[in-house]
Amino acid sequence: MDKTIPAKLPLYLHGNWIQSQSNDWLDVTNPATGAVLTRAPYTTADEMEQAVASAAEAFQSWKDTPVPERARLMLRYQQLLKEHQEELATILCEETGKTFDDAKGDVWRGIEVVEQAANIAALMMGETVENVASTIDCYSYLQPIGVCAGITPFNFPAMIPLWMFPMAIACGNTFVLKPSEQDPVTPCKLAELFAEAGAPKGLLQVVHGGREQVDFLLEHPGIKAVSFVGSVPVGRHIYRTGTDNLKRVQAFAGAKNHMVVMPDANKPAAINNIVGSSVGAAGQRCMAISVAVLVGEAQQWIPEIRDAMAGVKPGHWKDPDAGYGPLISAAARERVLGYIKKGKEEGARCLLDGTGASVDGYPNGHWVGPTLFADVTPDMSIYTDEIFGPVLCLVNADTLDDAIRLVNDCPYGNGTSIFTASGAAARKYQHDILVGQVGINVPIPVPLPFFSFTGWRASFYGDQHAYGKQAVRFYTETKTVIARWFDSDIEHAEHPNMTIQLK
Ligand code: NAD
Repeated sequence: MDKTIPAKLPLYLHGNWIQSQSNDWLDVTNPATGAVLTRAPYTTADEMEQAVASAAEAFQSWKDTPVPERARLMLRYQQLLKEHQEELATILCEETGKTFDDAKGDVWRGIEVVEQAANIAALMMGETVENVASTIDCYSYLQPIGVCAGITPFNFPAMIPLWMFPMAIACGNTFVLKPSEQDPVTPCKLAELFAEAGAPKGLLQVVHGGREQVDFLLEHPGIKAVSFVGSVPVGRHIYRTGTDNLKRVQAFAGAKNHMVVMPDANKPAAINNIVGSSVGAAGQRCMAISVAVLVGEAQQWIPEIRDAMAGVKPGHWKDPDAGYGPLISAAARERVLGYIKKGKEEGARCLLDGTGASVDGYPNGHWVGPTLFADVTPDMSIYTDEIFGPVLCLVNADTLDDAIRLVNDCPYGNGTSIFTASGAAARKYQHDILVGQVGINVPIPVPLPFFSFTGWRASFYGDQHAYGKQAVRFYTETKTVIARWFDSDIEHAEHPNMTIQLK
């Protein structure tokens, strides 16, 4: 690929950047300006077949490549990603509209996973037990499974591809990545740096497209495992179709994350974190706080929450005062505005309305201002549905027990947090809550890559989660060996002068 963004985005097949023969292309736009950055192909069936075939061919030698060599590739890749962090972040800003700090964070969280992948030898250790019966030992190895596929969402175009292919490849697999069609340039840059790090041909392929290309991967017998991150309806489709086709599937889906605010919480910290975690990145984070549950007297903080939120402005990523960027597309903006309208119709009290937001100099940006609803109840669609915009719902609860019941009744289980000064309240919350990632005075509790990303319930379909030890389990098969060596065979061994006292 060129240093600048090419007018037509190529495919990455068997170590080569190839122009697709597709007749069907889509525009990739800058969401702050509406300018077309590049065009991406809907990859043809022939090209999809080539992607799987080249990954299958590369698997034959990569699976037997010594583990330290695989780890060294990841070390070189990690170094290159660090050197190119700002360049990657700049591309990311152009195609997502994120602020520069957010974009650098997106890249950094991915780099941390690559660091973990460089530790693959320790992660892939099997187990041994000597003497499971007389003179018999039992031990296990983790072996790679073959060609894996990844389907990623628009909202973290660096971090989420990096959740997937480095761990899969470090485990000895090869990979086909189908990034979001809304921002596929950053993932191409990731692939380019992977090649520069010395990745052999065929380890990673990048194809572009949408449902048709995804279904191709889900149905192809050569693909052994599928990792998906995206919305709930698509996640369910991926999980059902992938498992119907007898593949291993992990599907990370949508969310509705609650922050419970106790009246004894550190008030400035709680308010600051409510605002940052709800409208930051325009609310387009799967771990964004979209509901704050105000317990008892914390309900009196509503005017201060409103004022703090009103102080955050959307803007272009080059503006240092921009609190967050635009929505990813005109359709995403329309959807969010639709929910703001519904919230008012359903009787929630709209304390801040971001509908008419504009940014000087960027009339075509998909802007939505910070939006705050109070008196939200669980029957309203602004409460039940994932809005994925800078919209925060405030719900009142009388007690911590009421708050826990509310959160546990919500079908999603990605992330939640509690702000409190009470260890006992925090301990009760962390134990009783049916959500996979819990923050205590931490608003967005995303685990570091030596743990795993552990969403629950409607936020995840599958068994083994992303990165950490669970990713190694997902991308490997366990082979268990039971071995016995006969003492009497020693006479036929190749070293006749080896002395051993036979029983
Ligand atoms: P999306 O579901 O629209 O798209 C995700 C991927 O699926 C894309 O690559 C897209 O091309 C593909 N796709 C879309 N429709 C498809 C279909 N009908 N069949 C097959 N494939 C299809 O999601 P998005 O809008 O790109 O991303 C936002 C969503 O992702 C939000 O719901 C967010 O919560 C979720 N998300 C979840 C996590 C998590 O870890 N749980 C992380 C990030 C984002």
